[in-house]
Formats: sequence, structure tokens, C-alpha cells
Amino acid sequence: MPHSHHAKIVATLGPASADRATITALVRAGANVFRLNFSHGTHADHRQRFELIRAIEAELGRPIGILLDLQGPKLRIGSFAQGPVQLLDGAAFRLDLDAARPGDATRASMPHPQIFAALKPGAELLLDDGKLKLEVQSCGADHADTRVVNGGLLSDRKGVNVPGVVLPLSALTEKDRADLDFGLSLGVDWVALSFVQRAADITEVKQIVQGRAGIVAKLEKPAAIDSLEAILAETDAVMVARGDLGVEMPAEQVPAIQKRIVRACRRLGKPVIVATQMLESMIAAPVPTRAEASDVATAIYDGADAVMLSAESASGRFPVESVAMMARIIAQTEADPHYRDALDASHTPPSANTADAIGHAAHAVAGLLDVAAMVAYTSSGASALRMARERPRARILGMTPNPATARRLALVWGVHPVLCQDVTNVSEMTEVAIQTAVTQQFAASGQTIVIAAGMPFGASGSTNLLRIAQVG
Ligand code: PGA
Ligand code: MN
Repeated sequence: MPHSHHAKIVATLGPASADRATITALVRAGANVFRLNFSHGTHADHRQRFELIRAIEAELGRPIGILLDLQGPKLRIGSFAQGPVQLLDGAAFRLDLDAARPGDATRASMPHPQIFAALKPGAELLLDDGKLKLEVQSCGADHADTRVVNGGLLSDRKGVNVPGVVLPLSALTEKDRADLDFGLSLGVDWVALSFVQRAADITEVKQIVQGRAGIVAKLEKPAAIDSLEAILAETDAVMVARGDLGVEMPAEQVPAIQKRIVRACRRLGKPVIVATQMLESMIAAPVPTRAEASDVATAIYDGADAVMLSAESASGRFPVESVAMMARIIAQTEADPHYRDALDASHTPPSANTADAIGHAAHAVAGLLDVAAMVAYTSSGASALRMARERPRARILGMTPNPATARRLALVWGVHPVLCQDVTNVSEMTEVAIQTAVTQQFAASGQTIVIAAGMPFGASGSTNLLRIAQVG
């Protein structure tokens, strides 16, 4: 039987979950997409994980998505001469370009010349996930003199966030370019871009990817929130990357921003992933906090396409339990009668175009006729996305002759992707749809299904056909 939940689960793989038995168990527990996090691990590690996923996919006969997450321009300070240093509130601390000289309690290197060029007196620097805060007093091309606002212990290579400043950085570093080439040569389905600041960052990656994978914009900087509409127009999907977002912006603003992003993505029918700290305490414990269970449920009530696990599945003690817990929270939430009310209340009217008209009509037909399944026959995935945009009650079969599309659809709300043969005309397509709905146990004899497709078949983005069919 297919998984019964509409919302999808993205699980990050890492040392705690990189073996065949664990990956298989993660899929059985409900993982739909695996994230390969290129901030950690070698190419050899990622290749091995990639190949294991593909082998398990073939064994289980279920399309699985693979998402390559690029590190992006993550800023870091250099190392210290004698271990961690204690920065005291109010003290002076200097950052400079001198990477060869180990740091001490008065200075550290920060080998990013572009940052010094963009800093101004008054700018704030956040270190180590926001635990320490420095304020720039004066700065030059190769240094910044700061005052410690929030002190604390600072150790080697800790991350730096510069929230208030649009940094003159490409979203792709040299490492990212190499990682991207490598990932594309493996055949990943999605590429996630970190620290996106503007729509042009997405355009740059698209030019390299050339349609070989879908693009996920990770929204984790205030600048990205300021340019939300332009970024959404350019990207294929979005991640609400609450880890860095919550460092760059006050934590209390994250919930409203999360809801705003999910709403905007649903309006456009682009997949949205809610990520980071969802079941954080399960890194070390077999059960989550009540607040974490509630956080996952909130994303589900809001209609997000997917929820994500990071360290919980990559390096924690309970990777499989974390996925299973997430799946149970999703199932319970989707079974709540109030869930439908919440989804319907947040539904946005379709846009005035053919594809949305078909998706909307399919939803209306499903409501009127009590259909057993909605089927999208899709080569690019577009028809399935338009159906999913409606957040219908009925399950959606994303039927495609294209393996890459089937895998990409693994991320999409409510879509159960299935690989099928190529078809050449409507009656053949209808036959294949009926057969697939039956073999996937979505429909039985005497039941009705509604099918959306695009003619001519094989041309992408042409959703223009609605067919109602009876299972014989
Ligand atoms: P990361 O991105 O785990 O790659 O940092 C997600 C986030 O920042 O929330
Ligand atoms: Mn991040």
C-alpha cells in the first residue's frame, strides 16, 4: 500500500543513516525524499548514499527523490591559537583578513574580503548561530573593529551571519560549483541553494542546471524575504530554512514568515518544505517535546508540501524513530476534521490560465462525483502540480513515463508518483490511467477517476485536458 499521508517527509542522510538497512527503514517509515547535505561529507560519501538510495528505490518499486543541498556562501571565522576564547560583553574584538595568524581574545581572521567591503559602522555580526553578537565600530577594506554586544565562548571556524547587509556574494561558491557538477553527474532530482538573496541567484544556478534538476531556494536571509515574490517567480520550489533564518531575524518573526512563505508558495503551486529543528530533541531522545509535535502539525495544517529532518535523521540516535514520529504526526493531523477546514480556508483562487483551470476543474469534479482518485498524466510534472495546488481530498496519482519527473514529484503534497509507459493518444492514456489506479490500489471496479493531462503528450507544461473515466 502507498503511504497514506498527503504531506511528504524529507530526511537528511548522514553518518547515523548512511547504511542500506537504515535507508530502507527510513523509506518504510515514510521518508519520500533524501537530502544529501554538501556542508558535510565527501563526494565519495554522497556517491555511496546516492547509489544506495537508487538501489533501494528499484527494490521497493517506489520513486524516491534525492535533494542535493549546496552549502552556499556560509561565512566562517578562522582558528584560534590556544583553543576557544571567552569574549566579554563590551570588549573590543577585531576581525581581519590575516588567515595565516591564529586568533586570540582580541582578534580573529574572517577570510571574506567581500564582507569587509560591505560592512558599515553599526552593522551587527552574529557568531555561532547567533549566540554571540558584535557591533562594527569602524572598518576598512581588510578589517573591522567591533564591540562585543553579547559575549561568550568562541571557537575555531564558527559561522558568521550578517543579517542587515545584502552581501555582494554569488550564491554559488567554487565549492558549490564543483559539488553541483558532481551532483548533476550523479543525477540528483532537486538542487537546494543556500543563502539566496535575490532572484538572480536562482537564475545563475538555472543556467548551469539546464533543467536536469528542480531548484529549491532556501529562504534564510532577510534580503530573500524582502525579494520573496521575485524569488518565488524564478524558483521551482522553496525551503523555509528556519535555522539560519532564525539567526538572521528575531526568532519571534519566524512563525509569521513561515506562514507567509507557505501561503505564497501554495498560491503559485510551487512545493514548499518547512525545515530545521522540527523534532530537534529526537537527536538524543526517542520521543519529541510536545512543542515539536505541535510545530510539525502546524506546518501540516498550513498545507506545506513537506517537512524536513536534519540532524535528527543525519547524526542523531533515533533516525528511523524520527521519521516514524513525523509520519504519525502527519497522519494524525490530516485525520483531524479541522484539518480540511484549515486547508480550505487558506485555499487561494486559481490564476486565469489553462493549467490552473484544469486543476481547479478536476478538483470540482472530484468533489461532485466522489471520485476514487485524481490522476495527472504528466511528462514535466506540471499537471500534477496544478492538481496538488488545489489540495483536494482525493489522493493524486502522478503518472509519468519520465523517471526524473516521478522522483521530483516525490516532494509534492498529495502526489503519489508512478512510472508508466509512454502513450500516444487519449484512449490509450485513459487505459493506462485506469490500470495504474487499479494496480496502485487507488481505485476499484465501478469507481470513477478524473484525469488531467496535456496534449500533445510529451510536450511539457501544456495541461489542457480533463477526462472522467469509469473503472471497468
Ligand atoms: P542548513 O539549512 O541546515 O543547510 O543550514 C537549513 C536551515 O538553515 O534551516
Ligand atoms: Mn541554513
